[in-house]
Amino acid sequence: MKPAELKTALGNVEREANRLLRRGESGRAFGIHHALNLLADEFERHAMRTRWETYTEMRFESAHDLPAFPDGHKCRRLHGHSYRARIFVEATELDGQFITTDYAEIAAVVEPIRLALDHRYLNDIDGLENPTSEVIAQWIWRRLKPGLATLSKVRIFETCDSGCTYSE
Ligand SMILES: [Zn+2]
Repeated sequence: MKPAELKTALGNVEREANRLLRRGESGRAFGIHHALNLLADEFERHAMRTRWETYTEMRFESAHDLPAFPDGHKCRRLHGHSYRARIFVEATELDGQFITTDYAEIAAVVEPIRLALDHRYLNDIDGLENPTSEVIAQWIWRRLKPGLATLSKVRIFETCDSGCTYSE
């Protein structure tokens, strides 16, 4: 049962209890009210912890250097990464297709961002003058969020074993 349906069912039971109360059957009405409160509490707890997080990944190959690093640091030299960005969306209820967000819907928003980054020198891009994984993750978030309301996280894999996750 979906949370919205459960809420409606609880409302119906409450109306029935009030009807009994008006007819003077207070014992039964109080019993129902008590059960109703227990159910409402359980519903609250359930609603608060029910959550899906779905993700899809985009890949882009890009060059960068990190001008804020000290002289002599290897990241000051021009180099490249095979980046992966994992795009997370979240939902507390599944839709009519029993999913959180259609992958095609995510892809439509993600692809223009990917094209803006792929085979580029990242430092040349507005907002990416210091293109660390942290900055790239935030940059992607801010461009995705307006078209993808359910966006919950952007995770950048700069190498196989290091990266950064951003959300706001
Ligand atoms: Zn690097």
